This record gives sequence, C-alpha cells and structure tokens, in this order.
Amino acid sequence: MPKLIVLSGPGGVGKSTIVQELKKRNDFHFSVSVTTRPPRVGEEDGVAYHFVTENEFQKMINDDSLLEWAEFAGNKYGTPANQVNEKLTHGLNVVLEIEIDGARQVRKSSPEAKLIFISPPSWEELVKRLEGRGTDSSERRAERLALAQEEMAAQNEFDFVVVNDQLERVIEQLVSLAAGNSGK
Ligand code: ADP
Ligand code: 5GP
Repeated sequence: MPKLIVLSGPGGVGKSTIVQELKKRNDFHFSVSVTTRPPRVGEEDGVAYHFVTENEFQKMINDDSLLEWAEFAGNKYGTPANQVNEKLTHGLNVVLEIEIDGARQVRKSSPEAKLIFISPPSWEELVKRLEGRGTDSSERRAERLALAQEEMAAQNEFDFVVVNDQLERVIEQLVSLAAGNSGK
C-alpha cells in the first residue's frame, strides 16, 4: 500500500535537510507546496516551493484545491491536493514536509497517514541550528524560536518521534517506517 508520510517538527530541526537526503532515494515522492513567503537566496520557483501571491493562494483555498494549508510566521503554506492524490493512486509513497497545524488537518482528512515528528537532540541544539542557518533576520529568528517552543509541545500528537541527531540514522528509520516495519 502506498503511504502518505507527514514530516513535521520545529523550524530549524532539519526537516529540509532530511527531505533533501530522502530525494536521493527512489522509494519516496514529494509534493511541492505553494507559499506566499518570498524565496530565500538560491530557492528556485517550482523546486522547493511554488511561490505565489496572496490572491493566488486565496484562489486555491476557495477552489478547495489544497489538501491542507496553514499560516506560519506571517506567511501561508499549502499542499496542492491533486499532486498528492495522483502519486498515491500510482502506488507511490508521498512525503509531506509541513508544519503542525497542517499535520493535524492531514490527520483528520487522511487518518491512514503516518505522522512523524522530527525532534532535535536538545533545545540548545535547535537554537544553534536555527541561528546557524543564517537565512532570517534577528527579529524573524526570535519569532521562529517562540513558534518552535509551541511546536515542541505538539509532539505527543504524532504517531512517531524521530530524533534528528545523525542524518543517516534518521533516514534509516524513515525508510523502515515507510516499509511498514513498525507502528500502525
Ligand atoms: P528545517 O527545514 O526543519 O527548518 P533545516 O533543514 O533548514 O531545518 O536545518 C536547519 C540547520 O540544521 C541547517 O543548517 C542544517 O544544515 C542543520 N542540520 C540539519 N540536520 C542536522 C543534523 N542531523 N546534525 C547537525 N545539523 C543538522
Ligand atoms: P520555511 O519558510 O522554513 O520553508 O517553512 C516554514 C514552515 O512551513 C516549515 O515548518 C515547513 O515544514 C512548513 N511548510 C512548508 N510547506 C508547507 C505546506 O504545504 N503546508 C504546511 N501546513 N506547512 C508547510
């Protein structure tokens, strides 16, 4: 059975890094989210995200074409439903890398989805990673840290918690979960 796998967790924990690594494998497929956030340096439209205007985003909500969507740190993010459904229909495992509110929506609409919380080895390490990324202003970082604290509190709503200490170990665990070696 193809699986819908949701990766969530606090900003800076390493979700994008994990996704980049998973993309090197053939057993996972991905959805490209839409966002109203401006592209960061080096982000190409249609690769990490489809960058859209507020109006375009609103139209997708009105057309009911998003599987889930949420506002995060002042910007909107959403998963186009058609991409995901098409891939699942073709028997492919689909990975969504989304924030917590979106994960909650997927839980409701797709109860069979596997919800995985990526957790940092410690709070100090999370702060270090968030600051080390250097892509946000200091004001933005403070805002993201406050959000991260809230996000950490949601981890017991998830089916699995995977600690992102060593990347290779995390990938092994996710491959094993996708293969159905544990859990629901
Ligand atoms: P997120 O997508 O969750 O916001 P990123 O993937 O952008 O997080 O990672 C935030 C920072 O943490 C990056 O600088 C990344 O290189 C680093 N990082 C990710 N995974 C690890 C890991 N396992 N060990 C050490 N640093 C990591
Ligand atoms: P960033 O701006 O750092 O790329 O992403 C900010 C947050 O938005 C991250 O937690 C990321 O997982 C989340 N995100 C990315 N795409 C989506 C999406 O389609 N839906 C939801 N709900 N969150 C998303």
